[in-house]
Amino acid sequence: MSRYFCSICGKVLLEEFAIGYICACCGNESCVSDDILPEELEKFTNQDLNSAGYVKSDLEKYDRMPVEVAHRLLRAKWINSGCKWKFNDENEMPNDWGLEKAKQQLSNIDEDVDDYINR
Ligand SMILES: [Zn+2]
Repeated sequence: MSRYFCSICGKVLLEEFAIGYICACCGNESCVSDDILPEELEKFTNQDLNSAGYVKSDLEKYDRMPVEVAHRLLRAKWINSGCKWKFNDENEMPNDWGLEKAKQQLSNIDEDVDDYINR
């Protein structure tokens, strides 16, 4: 059985992070939150852009952000906002949820918090 992960926060998902899927952890909706137009870059702080390793003027050249870029931006924003668990209707959030758990979760998608916060 294949495992699915959120492309942004690395949460284990019951199904693929595909159109319309909203991640309970980072709260992002696939094909909606990650469909980012240049004018929507305002939603990201300079710190988010910096954490993601992007320069705004470079990204403004795109008609819409490539999905990998969008995921990286949303991941940076989520990390900079403290890796908060967004929706817990299904009681999926581990009791000991915090930065350490977030780090473990991000390792599911080979991402390292330190790559974002130590820039
Ligand atoms: Zn997520």
